[in-house]
This record gives sequence, C-alpha cells and structure tokens, in this order.
Amino acid sequence: SEGPTPTSVAIVSQYACQRRTTIENNNSIFTDAFEVLAESYEFSELEGQCLAFRRAASVLKSLPCEVRRQEDIRDLPWMGEHTKAVMEDILQYGHSFEVERMLSDKKYQTLKLFTSVFGVGPKTADKWYRKGLRSFSDVLTEPSIHLNRMQQMGFLYYEDISRAVSKAEARALGSIIDEAVRAITPDGILALTGGFRREKEFGHDVDFIVTTPEPGRENSLLPDIIERLKQEGILLYCDYQASTLDISKLPCPRFEAMDHFAKCFLILQLEGSKVEGGLSRSKEGGRGWKAVRVDLVSPPVDRYAFALLGWTGSRQFERDLRRFARLERQMVLDNHTLYDKTKKEFLAAQTEKDIFAHLGLEYIEPWQRNA
Ligand code: ATP
Ligand code: MN
Ligand code: MN
Repeated sequence: SEGPTPTSVAIVSQYACQRRTTIENNNSIFTDAFEVLAESYEFSELEGQCLAFRRAASVLKSLPCEVRRQEDIRDLPWMGEHTKAVMEDILQYGHSFEVERMLSDKKYQTLKLFTSVFGVGPKTADKWYRKGLRSFSDVLTEPSIHLNRMQQMGFLYYEDISRAVSKAEARALGSIIDEAVRAITPDGILALTGGFRREKEFGHDVDFIVTTPEPGRENSLLPDIIERLKQEGILLYCDYQASTLDISKLPCPRFEAMDHFAKCFLILQLEGSKVEGGLSRSKEGGRGWKAVRVDLVSPPVDRYAFALLGWTGSRQFERDLRRFARLERQMVLDNHTLYDKTKKEFLAAQTEKDIFAHLGLEYIEPWQRNA
C-alpha cells in the first residue's frame, strides 16, 4: 500500500500557460506586496529580480486557496529566498517591512506618479526625477522639459484616464467601435481582447482586434475607423502606426514587445448617456463625458488567431506561452506565427484552440489567463 496521501499535492506547473488563473485572487495580500517590489526593480532596470517577483505572484494568483503557513508554498515553483522572506514577514506580522519601506521611499513614489501619466515610461520618469522634479506641477513648470503630444494628452486628461474603465464603459465603447466598423464594411470582424476579454471588472484601457475576411483590405480599416471617430467628434487623441509586417522575415528571432500589425492608441470621448448605469466617475464640473484609452490592432485575417492570443494577455501568461513553446517544444511563438524548429515549418491556425493544440497544451479559456 502507498500509505496516506497528503492533502493538496496537486503539482503546480512552472508555466502560467499550464495553470488556470481566474480574476479571483486568494493571495492578494502577498501578490500586491510582490508587485510593489517588482515595480521598484523595474524602475532600477533589474529585470531578473523584477521577473522573479512577477513569476512568484503569478503562481500564488493561480492557487485555489489562501497561503496560511510557510509549508503551504514548499512545493510551488518560483519561490526564491527573497520572495519567501517577504512572505514570512507577511505571515508573521501582517505586512512586509521591505514593502512598507519601499512605499514610503520618495524615489519610488515619484517614479510611480510620473509613470502613471499616459506616454511616460520608466526612462522619462527617471530623467525627470534626476532633474530634481517631484510633482506634476514641477514637471509642468520646468522650462527645459518638452512634452511630446502623447504626454501632453496624458496630463490634459489625467483625471479621467488614470481612473479605471468599467465593464459598462468597455461595453459602450464596443458598440461605438462596432458601429464604425459596420458602416465601413458589413463583413468586418471585431473582437474584444485584453483584460476585458479575460473578464476583468476594470481596465486601464479597452483593447479590440479588427479585421476583414478580404486579405489586404485590413490596411485601410484603421484609417477608415479613425476618420469616422473624428467625424463623430469623439476622437481626442490618435497615435496610428501602419503595419510593418513582412511575412518573409517571420518569426522574429528575438522577443519583441511590439508586434508588426497596424495599430492605434486612442483617447476617445465617451458620453455618459451611452453607458448603462452612467460613467464610473463623479461628474466633475458637470461634464457629461469621460476620456478613455482605447487600443485597436488590425492583423490580416490569416493572423487573426495569433493576434487574438497575443493581445488577450495577461503579460505573464504571454511570456510563459512563448517560453513554453521555446523550451518544451522547440517552437517559436509570437503575435504573428508559430514556427516548429524541428520540422522547419510554420503551423497554421484558425483559432486559439488550434495554437494550444499545436503546442500540446490543454486549452485555457480567456478568463483563466489572468496569470
Ligand atoms: P489593462 O489594460 O486592464 O491594464 P491588459 O491585460 O488589457 O490590462 P494591456 O496593456 O492593454 O493590458 O495589454 C493587453 C495585451 O496586449 C497584453 O497581453 C500585451 O502583451 C499586448 N500588447 C499591448 N501593447 C502591445 C503592443 N504595442 N504590441 C504588441 N502587443 C501589445
Ligand atoms: Mn488593456
Ligand atoms: Mn492596451
């Protein structure tokens, strides 16, 4: 006989794409703390330490229950000495001293504030900090600083776009974009992607994929949609990037954060009257609308499944899909293709399920990808 089996011996995979992670997080007390440290390492460009905390957080998010004792994490992947020490503090004292210290650190606070502006990344935030700037008014009154248009809009609409977008607002924007697509081409294909496809309650923006069954036609799709939104008078900002896709050069041999599809990063004016239950912010100054960030990406239809998988996220889920493909299957996955290095061939896919099948992975639903 094998003797009594210990409880909860389910093996947790080191890959997020082999875990099912819903928005229900039973360990936010730990993962929130990890996120603070991950972010501070990101600001210092210590990518290894940043990734270590993001991976550990991702594992804890997938657990069906709360971690209560140090031994609960014994068999989990990605639990390093540092992550364990932080957890030990939280288990023993209810909070981590290191995290508390970071939260009251002036540099961390300032970089966090600056990077919360649309168009301001860690590099710019650090440059401003090193100039001695500590607040928005410092930045806005500093004569040596030239803001680009994206950053100008980031400050102009800061109150609105720093506030989370609700599901009802995302739905209203879906109708607006859908109407625009229908007016341009009756066989247009529109899909919600990003965090709202993963059934998150709130987002920092709303992400959509648009395409058409007619190859090549997708190139004029985004410019047409942008023009319509402009005509409607609801386009506040538009950063359009035309496609740089060259199928003969695929797959990209190194990891690229950006893909080559046509895309645009927008700020739209969303009328409260179009949102069921109203806008998610109080009506300041009686203004009946809210500025909202919207991303549109427009792949050719034969790349649709790859684009949808790549843009649904989460970022940690995407990272591990690619890592799994490379290390476990000798394949290269990106937002455009899946390439089998052993067979030396591209693997076609009509749906996300096809891609999971090519990778020999169980299908993970979008709402289970909140890694
Ligand atoms: P939220 O928007 O609520 O913060 P999210 O998961 O939707 O969460 P986004 O930043 O909107 O986060 O990104 C959604 C997905 O799109 C991610 O998986 C990300 O990898 C992908 N993505 C975002 N921007 C680009 C880009 N420029 N090129 C390629 N992929 C991108
Ligand atoms: Mn998003
Ligand atoms: Mn986005």
